[in-house]
Amino acid sequence: MDSSPKNLTDAGKEAAKDARAAKEKIASAPARQKNSGDEVRSFGVVRSLAWAAMTLTVALSVIVALYLGNMAGKTLLSKSQSFALLLADNLNNQIYRRFTLPTVSIFGRVDLSNPEQYRALDGVVRSIIQGLNVDDVRIFSHNRMVRYATNAGERDKTDLASPSVERAFIEDGPIYDILDGIPYWQAFFHLSLASETFRMRTTYPLRIENRVSSSTADGPFMGVLEFTQDITRDIKNAIRFQQLVLGVTLLSSGMLMVLLMLLVRRAELALALRMAEAQRLQRELHQHEKLAGMGRVVASIAHEIRNPLGIISSSAELLLKRAGRENPGTVRVLEAIYDEAKRLSRTVSDFLDYARPRQPRQEPVEIGQVINQALTFLGPDLAEREIGVVRAGLLDEPLHVPGDRDFLYRAFYNIMSNAVQAMGASGTLTITLGRSEEPENFITLRFHDTGGGFPKGSMAQLLDPFFTTKDDGTGLGLPIVNSIISSHNGSLTLGNAPDGGAEVLVQLPALPSGTAPE
Ligand code: ADP
Repeated sequence: MDSSPKNLTDAGKEAAKDARAAKEKIASAPARQKNSGDEVRSFGVVRSLAWAAMTLTVALSVIVALYLGNMAGKTLLSKSQSFALLLADNLNNQIYRRFTLPTVSIFGRVDLSNPEQYRALDGVVRSIIQGLNVDDVRIFSHNRMVRYATNAGERDKTDLASPSVERAFIEDGPIYDILDGIPYWQAFFHLSLASETFRMRTTYPLRIENRVSSSTADGPFMGVLEFTQDITRDIKNAIRFQQLVLGVTLLSSGMLMVLLMLLVRRAELALALRMAEAQRLQRELHQHEKLAGMGRVVASIAHEIRNPLGIISSSAELLLKRAGRENPGTVRVLEAIYDEAKRLSRTVSDFLDYARPRQPRQEPVEIGQVINQALTFLGPDLAEREIGVVRAGLLDEPLHVPGDRDFLYRAFYNIMSNAVQAMGASGTLTITLGRSEEPENFITLRFHDTGGGFPKGSMAQLLDPFFTTKDDGTGLGLPIVNSIISSHNGSLTLGNAPDGGAEVLVQLPALPSGTAPE
């Protein structure tokens, strides 16, 4: 084993290179995080803007709905007023022609206390308003007394004259009053409005004249006419219209808002994922740096331990020879010291080989020769355990790979020594060498033993350093094999053969034909 201080610094350099590579890999992480920070802020702005737009749209929709509703209400009201004016005109005319004139010619004068005259007027009024959604027709005399009323109970009452009646005696033209059962804003929230909830009262001066349109006429004054109409339906229509406008604008702005929020949410999710990824890379960087540092420390400690261990084992060996057979107690202790020191020394060497991979030389290596060499070294063990070796394929042909003989020897030795240990007292180790079809220009080396096979539940851990199922194992054999094969640009596949036993496949690039030495 090479124990020069140069190698120790090599180990340090390797570890530092590892850490640098890791750093470079994620060097962009902080920049990415900064970008993410900016994006988080801009999403915050988008969200606030969306809310502001939503509030503005709702406020605007309310204003628009109220304005349109008002306009509609006004239109409907002016339609009712025109109708009322026409009706008042008509009443004024018909009363004059069909009641006043005949009464004066028959009775000499109008006197409504006369039941016959009263009935005649009632007949005229009722014939006009029939089917017209008009009720409570009253006629006030100059002394504000109800001289005529469709509601018989109101007759001759003096307390029913509203301020509008007073005004009608003074001003000319119709006066319209809205009589509401509930405030307008409350009606907005009622699903259905009972009839007579909203009524319009028209107060109109009765005049003696004979023309069809009397709005500008100015004949002698007879009294004041008053009637009410149910305008609940018109108000209801205006409210429905208002509700429709409000509903449609609220719904469309709500949908727009939901859409916008969904988009923002999706973008935020994507951003969160990116941030999590950046954080993961950051953590990985720290972990790499920590491991690299630890690796440097452990490698230097292992290196320091190896020399004293060598001294301990060779001293124990020397003392063993000296102690001879006469002192069995001392011999046992010395043997234990020697065995343990050897085992520890092997572990330390394995660890240093694993932790400090070196660049393999690139020379033509004949595979069959290296396998034979390792088998020779394993010979006594194979014989003792009655393990047969079957050499198959092209193993005895001069097949070459470019690489490092010592490293490949180490790798093949580890694989075969594992197989021997797995088979125990007896078995067969089959080694097959061939040219591989996929990938081309590679050789395939297959090691198959008749042991128990790789532990099924631990296939994923076999290449982890320090994973072992043996009492005296180091768990570094297969990781070393893997690192050697990788450094030769080859591949290692571990599995169990269908007929049982472990199967290890090694693929290595072959030396281009014609370049192999004779
Ligand atoms: P170690 O031999 O020191 O345990 P390795 O890395 O060489 O370390 O092997 C790891 C584990 O893989 C072994 O403990 C054993 O459980 C399993 N293993 C390796 N080779 C074989 C094999 N040929 N047959 C069965 N199991 C094996």
